[in-house]
Amino acid sequence: MDPRQLLLPLPGGGPASGSARGIPRADRVFVNRDLRLSGIDWVGFDMDYTLAIYRQEEMDALSVELMVDRLIKRGYPAYLKKLRFDTRFPIRGLLVDKRYGHILKMDRYKVVHRGYHGMRRLSREEITELYHHKRIRPHTSRYHWIDTLFALSEVTSYAAVVEELERRGEKVDFDKLFSDVRASIDEAHAEGAVYRAVTSDLPRYIDRDPELARALHKLRSAGKRLFVLTNSPFSYTDTMMTYLLGGALPEYPSWRHYFEIIICAAQKPRWFQEGRPLMERDGDVLRNVRGSFERGKVYEGGNLAEFERMVGITGNNVLYVGDHIYGDILRSKKESSWQTAMIIQEMDQEISAHEACHDDLARQRLLEETRDRFEDELRYLQAHYKELTRVPPSPGSSEDAERLRVKRGLERVRAELRSIGTEHDLLAERISQRFHPYWGSLLKEQSEMSSFGLQVDLYADVYTRRVSCLRAYSPQQFFRSPYDLMPHEL
Ligand SMILES: [Mg+2]
Repeated sequence: MDPRQLLLPLPGGGPASGSARGIPRADRVFVNRDLRLSGIDWVGFDMDYTLAIYRQEEMDALSVELMVDRLIKRGYPAYLKKLRFDTRFPIRGLLVDKRYGHILKMDRYKVVHRGYHGMRRLSREEITELYHHKRIRPHTSRYHWIDTLFALSEVTSYAAVVEELERRGEKVDFDKLFSDVRASIDEAHAEGAVYRAVTSDLPRYIDRDPELARALHKLRSAGKRLFVLTNSPFSYTDTMMTYLLGGALPEYPSWRHYFEIIICAAQKPRWFQEGRPLMERDGDVLRNVRGSFERGKVYEGGNLAEFERMVGITGNNVLYVGDHIYGDILRSKKESSWQTAMIIQEMDQEISAHEACHDDLARQRLLEETRDRFEDELRYLQAHYKELTRVPPSPGSSEDAERLRVKRGLERVRAELRSIGTEHDLLAERISQRFHPYWGSLLKEQSEMSSFGLQVDLYADVYTRRVSCLRAYSPQQFFRSPYDLMPHEL
């Protein structure tokens, strides 16, 4: 994806969305690299946040509530029980600086552009002071990268607890607090509290997509074979998939009939790298697997090499659809020749904000062009003025009048540039607010890709809002990547 293309008003509905005419922009499949569906024989799906779209704010609220109880048990003050938090706060791709308790957003070059401490936005000066004088190293233990929707509640919780503890005058160990928040959330998952809450009220937590069944059926009708590869245990997978697909189409007595192969408790990303024996689940019993996969059975574990051997996959005829940039998309891209489709459920917000900002973005571009012209004029006048002041003028000479004229010209151009700068900043803030109240666009930062946007660009061959968006395209679709222009070609 060429980042500049997001800013250009293109006819026919925009860049790289295949033959997308007539498909609402929010429901399109966007293309980073060519993908010929006609060459795809197997389509694999992750489950959580891919086939199953969670209501993020409900999930985060649940997660924070479960976290707080466990944090208090670890010795934190009981007043945290009444913790105030904003589930809109986090986005994917943020970086937690555990040394200072800051949460940061970077562009593709790992330059920090904005940040918060608790719920307070860091000033430009604070960011420059801490992060611009030395290149930051996000992969060191000082930092923690938030790359999944699952981990967003860690950010909501952390910011809210930092805010509350400091408001009450407590001294905070930011590093330890982050570990404790994460451990408390992990504990709630490990104890099954999250699973129990979600399965006891699925409509509250899951945004059931009525078009999902038809999208899967369309792929199957074209001869594609589907599989599920999820880290969730079978009991949870079964409950969730029954909710999503059970009774949706008369041709399919149960959700299991949509898929040739079902693998639960897969332990991705390890699944893509390490050998772990594949097991077959029969009720509560796990057995070793011999031979090949059987339709209708449920498997656990295994690994990429064994899977490809058993299924007879030899080339790039697999498309894997997932939401997790590391566990699903990056790992499969690096370890296999599979093609990747990333589900980014934030795309509807991202696209509606982009459309709402159309006029502001056009105005910004105009300001940038005008700024370039004034900057040329400024440089010309500066050089001219320097020339004129090299030798002192004789009193009353025409040079003196010229010098005055150039000086006024310089003042005028500088005033124009200041006013362009002010308006540009105001527009940038307004655009950013439309995307997200705290962080602006998920995929962009100023005019660059965000660090998260870069990951999407590097590893997802195509990306879309949800699996059912595929139903609007032919199962033989050739998704063509945009013509990638370098700056010298623009
Ligand atoms: Mg997932």
